[in-house]
Amino acid sequence: MNSNHVVFDRGLTFEERLGKLAEAWIRDGRGRGHLVSGEAFFAVYSWHVQHGTDHDTTWAEYAAASYDAVGGSDGWSAMLRERANCESCGDSYRLENIGVCTGCMRYTCYSCDGHGACAGVVV
Ligand SMILES: [Zn+2]
Ligand SMILES: [Zn+2]
Repeated sequence: MNSNHVVFDRGLTFEERLGKLAEAWIRDGRGRGHLVSGEAFFAVYSWHVQHGTDHDTTWAEYAAASYDAVGGSDGWSAMLRERANCESCGDSYRLENIGVCTGCMRYTCYSCDGHGACAGVVV
């Protein structure tokens, strides 16, 4: 299972997924192969920006290393200009204006927010 798949593993809480990723990354000598990219990175990094400060510094290091691997601030800005459709209402947004639900890992706009039965948060 690669790191991007771990982020989409709905059998674990989002925090458990992050813990598992950061642990594997450290155990493997902080190899780039354990970092996340694409939508998985978007979810991890957005979560880190919004909720990461109260948590393990390893997670912060992991998020920072993944950020560098996708191209740092240039890569991140380019990603924020990409578009995605909200999987609840279908509207199209730039990634800077949409979030990912950490429970079901669907793109969710801020007007739709939460999913009722879903335990995730939109980051
Ligand atoms: Zn929506
Ligand atoms: Zn959800």
